[in-house]
Amino acid sequence: MSSKRKITVAYGDGIGPEIMKATLAILEAAGAQIEPEVIEIGEQVYLKGISSGMEPSAFESLKRTKVFLKSPITTPQGGGFKSLNVTTRTSFGLFANVRPCKAFSPYIKTHYPKTDLVIVRENEEDLYAGIEHRQTQEVVQSLKLISRPGSEKIIRYAFEYAKRYGRKKVTCMTKDNIMKLADGLFHKTFDEIAKEYPEIQNDHKIIDIGSALIAERPEIFDVIVTLNLYGDIISDIAAQVTGSVGLGGSANVGEEVAMFEAIHGSAPDIAGMDMANPSGLLNGAIMMLVHIGQPEVAEKVSNAWMKTLEDGLHTGDIYQEALSAKRVGTQEFAQAVIERLGQKPTNMVAAKFDSSAAKPMEIKMNPPKKVKKVLIGVDVFLDWDQDDRDPNVLGEKLRAADADGLKLQLITNRGVKVFPGGMRETFCTDHWRCRFQTSGMDEISHSQILELLKQIAGLGFDFIKTENLYSFDGIRAYSLAQGE
Ligand code: NAD
Repeated sequence: MSSKRKITVAYGDGIGPEIMKATLAILEAAGAQIEPEVIEIGEQVYLKGISSGMEPSAFESLKRTKVFLKSPITTPQGGGFKSLNVTTRTSFGLFANVRPCKAFSPYIKTHYPKTDLVIVRENEEDLYAGIEHRQTQEVVQSLKLISRPGSEKIIRYAFEYAKRYGRKKVTCMTKDNIMKLADGLFHKTFDEIAKEYPEIQNDHKIIDIGSALIAERPEIFDVIVTLNLYGDIISDIAAQVTGSVGLGGSANVGEEVAMFEAIHGSAPDIAGMDMANPSGLLNGAIMMLVHIGQPEVAEKVSNAWMKTLEDGLHTGDIYQEALSAKRVGTQEFAQAVIERLGQKPTNMVAAKFDSSAAKPMEIKMNPPKKVKKVLIGVDVFLDWDQDDRDPNVLGEKLRAADADGLKLQLITNRGVKVFPGGMRETFCTDHWRCRFQTSGMDEISHSQILELLKQIAGLGFDFIKTENLYSFDGIRAYSLAQGE
């Protein structure tokens, strides 16, 4: 029986085939014990009418091998196509996206030569759940879902990663000054979990100043853990400041399956020209080698790659007249790396991967705490565009609805209180949130809500959705309106 580890490989679109050919040639020459199982994904599959961009047989291959080395793909323009990356991440539970961003100065030009940070991005939740609706003529919504286990899992992963790779600090980034419940849950979970890792420093930054600091003083960061959307944005900022968008690799890690890729796209502008830098995919492949228990091969490849950069053999994207020795194409670059296998960089710090890094990261979750949940009201959202959108007219009409003491308490428009006692100047759309509670905020029943909706429909209103209001262990579990 072959001792080679089967891996699923996709050559992708655009520059994908060229950089994959180069990467696999280097891995083979370095003695990687891998057996690629090639699948087709991307543009051609989309154009066959498969909206996920991946045939069922490709999913089967991944289920078997559990390791995916993937070239970038081209997502066709227009609607109806689902993001293959998002589908793979969510279908296989790849909850952590890990993106190391390191400067390779002076060989790669950067203003921040000391940058060496790792972004650990939550990969399954947040606005990426893709639950969106158009509700009125003027308003659409996109739901941001954050869960306690989802937050706990990624935060624990970030601390375990820091421990395993000898990193000193984990920084959490959220916007919990505004999204007090959603981002607040992530931040609160971070504070709780951080206490279990006293040997690792921790801090929190609001995402806006956090992003600004990555762009201006990236060397102050070590490991950063954040929500899906923020992670997507800051990882591009971080890659850009290291001057190495074409060099970064990333790992998408789940409990069973993991996917490794370059951070860049399929670069159709240079496809087929033998100009692309294969380093991003190669760095993804190095992370894969560590993951499948071949750290010594990973080390060998990484050191030969750094030596190639030091020797000034550079593809066009990183070529600098003053520093580079030769501008090389994709395959010549790969050949140069192959020729340097066994060598170490002279000036840069040589790679060192511990064999313990191959062990699956153990993420032990705290058992969920059950708390008392009580229904204490309902927000009824209306599409209403009459009477010059005067909130006082709407409020007076809705006062007629009374389901056994469940009555209108306030109306907001885009989150701002407009009734009772709103300001004439507030701009109103056709989308209204009407809050119904008893005057004593008592517990209510679902049948009261059904009765209320019947009455609201009877008054001629189009209710577009409802959102129940709960308390958990006596604590209000919904946001107040601005001006409430
Ligand atoms: P891109 O990353 O493909 O290209 C941006 C610029 O960087 C281009 O000028 C390109 O020539 C250059 N570049 C990228 N990789 C390079 C490399 N290895 N060597 C040298 N130069 C390189 O981004 P884009 O143009 O916005 O997207 C092109 C396509 O890629 C789109 O269809 C997009 O949806 C897709 N995409 C795929 C992935 C993925 O599969 N993971 C990620 C991002 C974008």
